This record gives sequence, structure tokens and C-alpha cells, in this order.
Amino acid sequence: MPSADVIIVGLGAVGSAALYQSAKHGARVIGIDRFEPPHQHGSSHGDTRITREAIGEGLEFVPLAVRSNQIWEELEAATGRSLLDRNGCLVIAPANLVSDHHGSKTFLADTVQAAHKFGIAHEQLSTNDIRRRYPQFRLHGDEAGYFEPGAGFVRPEACIETQLSAARQLGAKILTSETVLHLQQTKDGTVEVRSDKDFYSAANVIVTAGPWINQLLGGEYAQLFKVYRQVSCWFAVARNAGEYVPDKFPVFIWIVGNRPRDMMYGFPAIDGPTGGLKIAAEQYDATTEPDTVDRAVGGDEAAAMYAEYVAPRFPDVSSQLLRAKTCLYTVTPDAKFIVDKFPGAENILFSSACSGHGFKHSAALGEALAQQVLEQRSRFDLSGFGILRFAGG
Ligand SMILES: Cc1cc2nc3c(=O)[nH]c(=O)nc-3n(C[C@H](O)[C@H](O)[C@H](O)COP(=O)(O)OP(=O)(O)OC[C@H]3O[C@@H](n4cnc5c(N)ncnc54)[C@H](O)[C@@H]3O)c2cc1C
Repeated sequence: MPSADVIIVGLGAVGSAALYQSAKHGARVIGIDRFEPPHQHGSSHGDTRITREAIGEGLEFVPLAVRSNQIWEELEAATGRSLLDRNGCLVIAPANLVSDHHGSKTFLADTVQAAHKFGIAHEQLSTNDIRRRYPQFRLHGDEAGYFEPGAGFVRPEACIETQLSAARQLGAKILTSETVLHLQQTKDGTVEVRSDKDFYSAANVIVTAGPWINQLLGGEYAQLFKVYRQVSCWFAVARNAGEYVPDKFPVFIWIVGNRPRDMMYGFPAIDGPTGGLKIAAEQYDATTEPDTVDRAVGGDEAAAMYAEYVAPRFPDVSSQLLRAKTCLYTVTPDAKFIVDKFPGAENILFSSACSGHGFKHSAALGEALAQQVLEQRSRFDLSGFGILRFAGG
């Protein structure tokens, strides 16, 4: 039976980071994924993810985002690959709006508060400031804005690929197209891993299975994770295309009302003016399962997104759909992460780091998970993400 110090189950955003960091630590590591990562089936595809350091979702996330950016910049320097583009992020919301987005009732104000507390460079903008600086946005007139120049976007597929390749160079064994079916901690503490191809044993296992977490964790905990299908669309820019490239157009989050579906976001034309703008919104109306989800995007879905979100706010962007993709959010009851040990198994650690905002934290979270199993402590205190916060309902 092949054995290792650490086995990582799932090599997406967090798992590829945990694999790289464990290998860097000198551990004997095996990583297993049911597909060939980076792939299009989980939560980590679609070319871009927003990263920002002042985190409206909670002050506890700020150090993770800051550290992740450091790790990606170190990897960029070591490999020459482009992973992080700090072209700036603009958060817009109606002034004084009270809503519930990503676990925050006052996302814009919470973002500003995080920036103040951690000394993150930023500007607060009025509607007129935004209009002057970014005429690409058509504002209603009651908006307030937050601009963080050091924020921007990361490239999820490249981040995963780079961390997997660095892990491999450090001796990690990577097994793909292999599904882990069962985990069991034995009396002596060793963890036995059964996949659809083989059996393995390890001193520790880290489970980073994204939207498939329920299949391995199961039991009473399954109710804590809800999976939602999300749609991203790339629309063509009909006019002033040169104004939408990354050094002229920031990534943005725009809260347009107080319903859950009222948080929209988007990116500049990263493939040049003809590549279109990626724009998305969120939906929490219908849950799904990763093995049965409909991955095709209907023309009616894209048309509805254009009519509801894009047409009223981006006069230069046309309804011509260049591309569309589905992706999965795994959401917890408080929209934060859950990182903990499997019930009754000290040596199996799992991470569910999504709720729609996990990529920007994934490199540091992978590092913390590796430290936790290899050194029994980590740079960041992850205890606030424990599952027991939901005990008692
Ligand atoms: C549309 C969309 C937009 C988003 N936008 C942002 C954003 O702008 N900024 C941001 O910070 N975050 C964003 N997020 C969230 C972020 O992408 C996720 O938090 C992050 O990708 C989750 O990573 P993960 O490692 O938990 O899951 P994944 O990357 O999905 O990895 C899970 C892996 O586990 C593997 N696996 C599962 N089960 C098994 C098994 N039994 N055996 C072997 N392998 C298994 C899967 O194949 C997969 O590779 C967005 C998410 C979506 C869907």
C-alpha cells in the first residue's frame, strides 16, 4: 500500500496550495484528484477571480488575502508566469444600503473598515468621483464607492497549475482521474484512503474536495454545505473598447439592491478589447449537486443576465455573448469557511473555503493547512472557522 506523510484529496484552489506547501516543507505527499486539474467541473475555473485585501466578508480574512498575494508574487518571480494583476478593484453600493451579501449586512462599510484597520491603501469615492474617473459605469446617482489600487484579479487555472507543477518538482506524487471513495482513521492514528483505483495510507489527510465535500464528510454535517450553480458571461464591447483593458478598467463588485441576487461583479477585457467583459451575478434560489448539475448555459439565461444587470449599467457593452460558463459555489450558513477535523478523526483535516469568495485566500489557506498537519500549528489561527460554531443549530 503506497504511504505518505500527507495525502491531499482534491487538487483545486486550496488542495493545490496545500500540496505545494506540504512538499515545500519536505513532507512525502500524494495528491489525488477525480479530474485533471485545473479543470472546469468544480469552483476554480473561468480565467479570473477578484482579489482584494480589505475584506468586507470579515476582518479575520484579511491576513489570508495579504499572505496569498505574497505567495502568488513569489511564485510569479520563481516561474515567470503571470498569476496576479493588481489593476485595482472598485466596490460600488447605494450609500447606506443594508443588505446581506457574503455574510455582511453593510459590505461597502465593512470593506472600508477593514482597510482602515489594516492600513490598506484605498480611496472612498462619491457618485460623481466614480463618474469622472470611470465613465464606463452608468450610475444611478445614489452610489458610494471604495477603490483599492492594490486589489485586482488572479488567474485561477494558472495558480493551480503553477502550484501543482512546483509541488511535483519538490517530489510530490500527483494522481489524477482517480476518485477517493472512503477515508478511515485506524486505532494507531494512521489514515487509510480508498480510491476507485488503489488503497493508500498516510499519517495525515487533508480533504479539499470543494463542492464534493458532502460525499466524503456526509452524516449530519452535510446539511451545512449547499451547492449553487452560478453563471458567468463574456459580452462583447460595442463602443470605446480601448477603455476596458485592465489598466483603464478595474475589477468591480456592484451591489445593486438588497436581494441576495443583487451582488454583481466583473473584470476588464483581459484578452484585449475583442475578448469581451466577463460579468456575473449570484443566485441562491436553487441548490444543485456537482455530479448532476446542468453545465450548459442557455441563451435565455445569458439574455436575462444582460437585460437585468448589464444593459442598465454598461452602455458600451453589447448583448453579443462571446462565451458563458457555469461554476459552483459551496455555501455555509454564515457564508464563511469551515476548516476543521473530521468528526472523530484527529488526523483528517478538511477545508470548505468557498461561499463565493475563497480563491483569494486559497494560497495562504493551503499553507496554513500544511503547517497545521506538519507542525501542529499554523501562521494563522484557523479556529474561528471551526464546525462547532454551528453546534446546536
Ligand atoms: C463563478 C464563481 C466566481 C467566483 N469568484 C470569486 C472571486 O472573484 N474571488 C474569490 O476569491 N473567490 C471567488 N469564487 C470562489 C472560489 O473560486 C472558490 O472559493 C475556490 O475556487 C474553492 O476552491 P476549492 O479548492 O475549495 O474547490 P475546487 O477548486 O473546486 O477543488 C476541489 C477539487 O476536489 C476534487 N475532488 C472532489 N472530490 C474528490 C474525490 N472524492 N476524490 C478526488 N478528488 C476530488 C475536484 O475534482 C476538484 O479539483 C468564485 C467561485 C465561482 C464558482
